[in-house]
Amino acid sequence: MDVMALAEELAGELATRAADVDRDGRFPTENIELLRDRGYMKLPVPVELGGGGVDLETMCHAQRVLASGCASTALAVNMHLFGLGAAAEALTDGQLEARMVLQLAGQGIVIGGSFTDAATGLNVRASSTPAERVDGGYRINGRKAFCSLAPALDVFYGTAGLTDGSGLLLFAIGRDAPGLSFIDSWDTMSMRGTGSWDVVFDNVFVPEIMGQVGAPWEVWDRRSEAMLSWFVCTLSAVYLGLAEAAARFAFGHVATRKLTGMNHPLARQPGMIFAAGEVDAQLRAARATLFDTVRRRRDQVLPPAEVVAVKYVVTNAAVAVVERCFRMVGGSAIYRRLPLERMFRDVQAGPLHPPTNDLALEGLGREALGIPPDATPRWGD
Ligand SMILES: Cc1cc2nc3c(=O)[nH]c(=O)nc-3n(C[C@H](O)[C@H](O)[C@H](O)COP(=O)(O)OP(=O)(O)OC[C@H]3O[C@@H](n4cnc5c(N)ncnc54)[C@H](O)[C@@H]3O)c2cc1C
Repeated sequence: MDVMALAEELAGELATRAADVDRDGRFPTENIELLRDRGYMKLPVPVELGGGGVDLETMCHAQRVLASGCASTALAVNMHLFGLGAAAEALTDGQLEARMVLQLAGQGIVIGGSFTDAATGLNVRASSTPAERVDGGYRINGRKAFCSLAPALDVFYGTAGLTDGSGLLLFAIGRDAPGLSFIDSWDTMSMRGTGSWDVVFDNVFVPEIMGQVGAPWEVWDRRSEAMLSWFVCTLSAVYLGLAEAAARFAFGHVATRKLTGMNHPLARQPGMIFAAGEVDAQLRAARATLFDTVRRRRDQVLPPAEVVAVKYVVTNAAVAVVERCFRMVGGSAIYRRLPLERMFRDVQAGPLHPPTNDLALEGLGREALGIPPDATPRWGD
């Protein structure tokens, strides 16, 4: 399969309705169906399980292209794709328990989840959604937020806090489980088409076999590194693709716009030339950081700071690039009829995903200064 040709073709079709999806703040069900029908949703699933068998590098390139068509759709499906990619690597490493989810995805099942509770925010090491141990499984009550892809997912996965104090429960459950409901709470400024709804648990029973005590990211090993790398790198690729699309739009705009009385288009003004150079340099640095990390992790388990740095560098470069492009285009940029206005809003969500800027910088700064991540007190006095 020519993955990049597929991504280009799908991006072209998604682009035709991206503005409408954003304006209406609606979930683009037809996009998810299209991606499912064309095999995009199972790209990271091993070939022998019915998927495309693509690795992280190819998936990042494909997500970059898809986001240039509709960033919301690319971000929504990213929540499905990254988990499959990490599971595929786990299976290659002999972790046979990863097989079931890959098999389901190979058959067309869509997965999505939320690790975010209203009370615990982005702290994925805790959950304020309580899970009580009962005969044969767990009973879950509570509310989670930011569940991208909620309108389309078949299987939900997430975390809950065990009420007996034994830690975090990582669980999966079918969409039609009694007591499980999805609430459309997604009226946002950015990424309006991701359907990142709330999820309510009203006495939901999770069978023991669908739960695992202790999340894989609690110990830093090959498995948790794979999970963080697939999340961070594919997510960063989405924001990179969005910024590249904004640059193409702005460059095209100034290259063709000639004001009355000027012999040359705006692109010949020194301010535009320097702005384009700055945008180009930032995109080069973001691409290099992302793909260098993706390649280096092939034969080693990277330390957390190396992975976290990708998220920080790429999403912040994307914000800077889109803002620069916005000013290059000038007053027209704020019209909703041009795509830059939507891109400007969408890109603001990048730094909000975990690890957020503060936490990323803290991790990177500690590493740079040789301060252990768990040093106490957390701050000196
Ligand atoms: C478009 C979009 C889609 C998303 N989709 C999903 C999804 O599908 N699944 C999912 O699980 N999540 C998803 N998220 C949620 C995301 O993963 C975060 O969990 C969510 O944004 C909650 O973050 P918060 O900033 O509200 O958290 P809060 O914890 O309230 O943090 C608020 C601020 O405080 C800072 N902060 C928090 N803790 C600390 C600390 N210990 N030290 C220093 N500073 C701190 C943060 O950096 C942040 O700036 C999505 C988010 C967005 C924007």
